Amino acid sequence: MDEKTTEIVEKLLAEPQKIVIVGHKNPDGDAIGSCLGLSFFLASLGHTTSVIMPNDFPDFLKWLPGVDTITIHEKDPKKSAALITDTDIIFTLDFNSLDRIGDLQPLLEKSEAKFVMIDHHQQPADYATATYSDVNMSSTAQMVFHFIEALGQEKKLSKEIAINLYTGIMTDTGSFRFSSTTPTTHRVTAKLMEAGAESDQIYQNVYDTNSPERMKLLGVALKNLNILMEYRTAYITLTQKELDEHNFKKGDTEGFVNYALSIKDIVFATIFIENKQENIVKMSLRSKGHFSVNDFAREHYDGGGHINAAGGKSSQSLNETVKEFISILPRYKDELTHAS
Ligand code: 5GP
Ligand code: MN
Repeated sequence: MDEKTTEIVEKLLAEPQKIVIVGHKNPDGDAIGSCLGLSFFLASLGHTTSVIMPNDFPDFLKWLPGVDTITIHEKDPKKSAALITDTDIIFTLDFNSLDRIGDLQPLLEKSEAKFVMIDHHQQPADYATATYSDVNMSSTAQMVFHFIEALGQEKKLSKEIAINLYTGIMTDTGSFRFSSTTPTTHRVTAKLMEAGAESDQIYQNVYDTNSPERMKLLGVALKNLNILMEYRTAYITLTQKELDEHNFKKGDTEGFVNYALSIKDIVFATIFIENKQENIVKMSLRSKGHFSVNDFAREHYDGGGHINAAGGKSSQSLNETVKEFISILPRYKDELTHAS
């Protein structure tokens, strides 16, 4: 975090404040870990903090220290509205634009609180008094660590903070294997381990809690895998019926798309997931090398994210969505052929 932003933040936090911390819709490990880590940190400085998420999050994150204190707007809209109305400062973490927070958007837009953004997504919006945005960072959780460092408060790193930040970094880097993982990322995680984050325990808590149904659903996803080698592209589909038959729970399809990307010579992978409740097809897009799924998702699927990991959605049927996807690929043939 640069000096100017640090100075602004120091001024904002000079006296005890009421602080709300908000993550994005369909929160992942980085959203939850970074928000809770920051919340524990700010509370340790004497501020009053609350963490709000737009909607619920997967069970594999529900063991994290502090999860019980999270207000889920979809479940308790009155409480989150009251907290937002009554706060001095709103920290927005792990998203780049207020249209990423679902029904919380109008509440934040009309709030008169001061905003602080901490985020690593492309194209950050300009709504905050202090914007700490860095698209080269592995995760927002890593940025929260640098935020604590910049304020000269490393001694405040507690076990609770360390576990939450470690989990955010681990999940957003695919357990330290994506190219966003830098030597600095490892230095940060080393410090988090020294502060009490147990890497083996955290890994098991997040990844070794599969239900039999999820494993069977993965089988279905892999059976539905299609490969378009001409475009170095692979995609997976899952219908609502297939999800229902496997007692689908939030987070069950997390990581499925990576199996498509792991195929030799494939540089672009997408999973299409039918969501009858919202009447959309939700997509997760992943790439290797220079092919930007952020650009692709922005251009075609009302989405975005990072160069190698993005999301989007379509309001057409699953079949139509896939058909359209295939019809778009020829335009990217050159790019895909030379991606990495
Ligand atoms: P995932 O595919 O794991 O849901 O998301 C991959 C990345 O893309 C994450 O950084 C996530 O925040 C971002 N992302 C997912 N869905 C959307 C979306 O609908 N719009 C935008 N702008 N970003 C998204
Ligand atoms: Mn993130």
